[in-house]
Amino acid sequence: MNLPRTDKKRLVIIGGGFAGISLAKKLKDLDVQLVLIDKHNYHTFQPLLYQVSTSGLEPDSIAYPIRKVLKRLHNFHFRLASVEHIDAENRNITTNIGNLTYDYLVIATGTETNFFGNEEVAKNAMPMKNVPQALNIRSYMLQNFEKADDSEDYDERKSLLNFCVVGGGPTGVELSGALAELKQNVFPKDYRHLNIDEMEIHLFEGADRLLPPMSEHASEKATAFLEELGVQIHLNTLVSNYDGDTVTLSDDSTMRSKNLVWAAGVTGAKIEGLKAESLVEKLNRFKVDRFNRIEGYDTIFAIGDIAYMETEEYKAGHPQVAQPAIQQGEHLADNLVHLIKGEPMKPFSYNDKGTMATVGRNRAVVDLKKLKFSGFFAWFVWMFVHLMALVGFRNRVVVFFNWAYNYINYDKAARLIVRPYKTRA
Ligand SMILES: Cc1cc2nc3c(=O)[nH]c(=O)nc-3n(C[C@H](O)[C@H](O)[C@H](O)COP(=O)(O)OP(=O)(O)OC[C@H]3O[C@@H](n4cnc5c(N)ncnc54)[C@H](O)[C@@H]3O)c2cc1C
Repeated sequence: MNLPRTDKKRLVIIGGGFAGISLAKKLKDLDVQLVLIDKHNYHTFQPLLYQVSTSGLEPDSIAYPIRKVLKRLHNFHFRLASVEHIDAENRNITTNIGNLTYDYLVIATGTETNFFGNEEVAKNAMPMKNVPQALNIRSYMLQNFEKADDSEDYDERKSLLNFCVVGGGPTGVELSGALAELKQNVFPKDYRHLNIDEMEIHLFEGADRLLPPMSEHASEKATAFLEELGVQIHLNTLVSNYDGDTVTLSDDSTMRSKNLVWAAGVTGAKIEGLKAESLVEKLNRFKVDRFNRIEGYDTIFAIGDIAYMETEEYKAGHPQVAQPAIQQGEHLADNLVHLIKGEPMKPFSYNDKGTMATVGRNRAVVDLKKLKFSGFFAWFVWMFVHLMALVGFRNRVVVFFNWAYNYINYDKAARLIVRPYKTRA
């Protein structure tokens, strides 16, 4: 990899997600050569991916070029590359475009979809972790509608119009709600000759309630909202196989579906090379101390979803959501300044600001520390928080106008098929 020669120390960040970007943004006064590497040239606002999948938003309103986000940094270099290996002994990383040495290394690679070792599911289900995958879901779903409109075979149509969402966490709940709104408000106008009642939306959750990490109140409300929208909820139910046409459930029952979105779990996007002891193997997360330093290393750090920090309050690590990633990124920036000046670093402590999920128009659930609420006000809060959290003023404006337009017109305008017909991106 070619970078200008310098006598400054080199700090390499792998990953331009919530953690990597919030770290880099706060490093403008640090006198180092800063290199950020990501396999995408943009930062993705993952919480709104489901709106891209369901035609509510175009992808460029939830993604933002990394070079543009960090344009104010001096001595900053971005490289579009995938990091494959870390050689800690020689302080060297291997990427698909060459090698690079570092003085300080920060791993902020987030997570990838976890299919729990089921290769057939991995081959046929649609994951939703990045923009190409979200666009793929959108195209595939619309292509199946086009096919159904031209089919005289009832069973084939049912399979094409049967939507299965696996995982009743916030992503599964939000996606199911958005699909139900398409069924209610949009598809009946587009496909006037189809019997829209043939479209079914099934949401599968292995636990005994939806939104397991949230309060009982949030679960009950989200369940009621989804049922009002006609989503069929299957609790205590695991999807054990999917061959692209038949979904097999844990009780061995089956149903036909051409559309199965897998939102059932994630695993750390680890990079090979570090000692086995520094990894929590079953989660693929790097064990870090209170300074986000990876166990066994002085100059290698991990932040965000990939970091596993065990504390009194978070015995199983912090939740894999945006806030810990942002807060760890910002905190590590301060600590790196201390480290480079030879000052002591400060331990990280997480400030939990609450969790929320939306089910659709006027329907959301919010859990704050002491307050739990749902309905229209929760939906308004959800929209405000997500709008403010988006990276880039332009994206906030575009998303705001899209939401206003969709709200007034009961529409989701981005119904374009832009990819070839295949399940995986
Ligand atoms: C569909 C979906 C919905 C979500 N909804 C919410 C929500 O509503 N609220 C919430 O708080 N959280 C939500 N989350 C979780 C939240 O997005 C994550 O917790 C957050 O993105 C973690 O930030 P991160 O920086 O650790 O990782 P990420 O944001 O995932 O960033 C990791 C970056 O590393 C890059 N990368 C990975 N491996 C490599 C490699 N080998 N080489 C180079 N680059 C690499 C990736 O391209 C990516 O840009 C959602 C996640 C998903 C997938």
